[in-house]
Amino acid sequence: AKGRGRCNYQVFTEFMAEQLNERLELEHALQRALELEQFSLHYQSQVDIRTGQTVGVETLLRWHLPGTGNISPTRFIDIAEESELILPIGEWVLRKACEDGVLLQQRYGTPCVVAVNLSPRQLMQGNLVTVVAEALNDSGLSPELLELEITENIFMHHAEELQLTLQRIRELGVRIAIDDFGTGYSSLSYITRFPIDRIKIDLSFVQNMLTDPNCRAVTNAVIAMAHGLGVDVVAEGVETREQFEYLGQQNCTHGQGFLFARPQPLEQLLLDDPTLSQF
Ligand code: C2E
Ligand code: CA
Ligand code: CA
Ligand code: CA
Repeated sequence: AKGRGRCNYQVFTEFMAEQLNERLELEHALQRALELEQFSLHYQSQVDIRTGQTVGVETLLRWHLPGTGNISPTRFIDIAEESELILPIGEWVLRKACEDGVLLQQRYGTPCVVAVNLSPRQLMQGNLVTVVAEALNDSGLSPELLELEITENIFMHHAEELQLTLQRIRELGVRIAIDDFGTGYSSLSYITRFPIDRIKIDLSFVQNMLTDPNCRAVTNAVIAMAHGLGVDVVAEGVETREQFEYLGQQNCTHGQGFLFARPQPLEQLLLDDPTLSQF
């Protein structure tokens, strides 16, 4: 058993070294990605469940690394966050999304909210409100058409600092959404104390709600809570017509997921008619 333990130990360290190496390589490549213009944005439609109309899009970052291919944001956002690279990258995303948002309004002719993901470090940066205000100013996008998505974990450690920042963002006229709702560790009380416009039910609940009674209970409770608070509620990860119909019965206001649309480049999105239900 001893020998075996040593063997496992070696395998483990080798694996660790490989991971570390890969991570350092990624971080190094990430450092240059902005100047090499390897980032692009995809947009995923958000649909009004009652009318089937596209009323918003979520901005999703894409990284194309030559020789490696497309790297998922789940693999590099954490690295960007830890190395503070998320600040310049996040600002680039915000500015580009606002610019694209203006084109989207022109094409659609109906208001379409552009949602942008913000990482905790961006929320803690001192000049976030200025960065947001400048992105709006320079692009000409109406503030009420910009929505910032934040995850609830941040309320656990930084609720005080966040209060003023979110208040000032709201004063700009920008909307605030809570992303991945139900997966964080924070208490619910923040939800009554912060200026929130929208709650996004995490896809893990939505995708299991028809087969798992617990996921169904959470989904129903979040929808009811959102109605009680007078905020929109978006179900994430809607993939089937059955899920869509169930959410409609529960009076969920909005849906997002592969059933409606995949994340796609702006050029493709501009070809869509937002008033036609293509799903
Ligand atoms: P998220 O904010 O929860 O974004 C939704 C994710 O779910 C996206 O993954 C989207 O492609 C995926 N998705 C949408 N509909 C469906 C569906 O019906 N089924 C399934 N299985 N998945 C669906 P993506 O694009 O890989 O992004 C992953 C995460 O990376 C995002 O999760 C977000 O946390 C982060 N992220 C992406 N772009 C940015 C960004 O610009 N800034 C920051 N800070 N984070 C970002
Ligand atoms: Ca999001
Ligand atoms: Ca989410
Ligand atoms: Ca997520």
